[in-house]
Amino acid sequence: MNKKERFADYKKRVSACKDCPLWETRTNVVTGEGNIDSKLVLVGEGPGENEDLQGRPFVGRAGKLLEEILLENGLRREDIWITNIIRCRATIREEGSVRNRPPRPQEVQMCKKWLEEELSIIKPKVIVCLGGPAAEVVIHRGFRMTEERGIWFKSPYAPFAIATYHPAYVLRQPGRAFDELRWMLSEDIAEARRKAENPEEETAPDQIIVPPQEEGGEQLSLF
Ligand code: SF4
Repeated sequence: MNKKERFADYKKRVSACKDCPLWETRTNVVTGEGNIDSKLVLVGEGPGENEDLQGRPFVGRAGKLLEEILLENGLRREDIWITNIIRCRATIREEGSVRNRPPRPQEVQMCKKWLEEELSIIKPKVIVCLGGPAAEVVIHRGFRMTEERGIWFKSPYAPFAIATYHPAYVLRQPGRAFDELRWMLSEDIAEARRKAENPEEETAPDQIIVPPQEEGGEQLSLF
């Protein structure tokens, strides 16, 4: 089977998944989408309301911001692959309304096989984890965004993996913090694009790569 056939087969099976309780409240199973041959993959946390309704990843406000930032870096969402660590929306019912909630560890664990299968089909060179939960799965457990953002790691799923802020988190920041985190997210996407496109960097080194500190640059303590 070629990549497209493998993905179609995967999509059919994952669409019927009932391996964790999230299947009971979902509208759609949300798999990754984009360029199946992309060397660059973005991994977020999970579908929200819009994603659940449309069956597509990153189509709400966070998705709009992500698309803006991709365009600033010469990328359209269809040029790369975009996915999440879980495939069904995690919700909580509060005071009569349904709200998003972070996925529980058991839900992430149950869905990990689907993420792994998806990544084994795409075979990315570079993965960008959007937010700490994705970095915990793709890079290492106990990932600390304030200390480890912007550092290149070797991942079981790609030779190069890096983590940055989730666009939804950026959107929640007030005033100057929004500008600063948006800038960092864009810089990290730019760096990931350079890494994905550089033919001289095909193999990950044995050790993690720590980028030089920018002059006067200070990591915000927001996590
Ligand atoms: S979140 Fe993942 S494991 Fe849970 S039902 Fe959906 S596809 Fe299956």
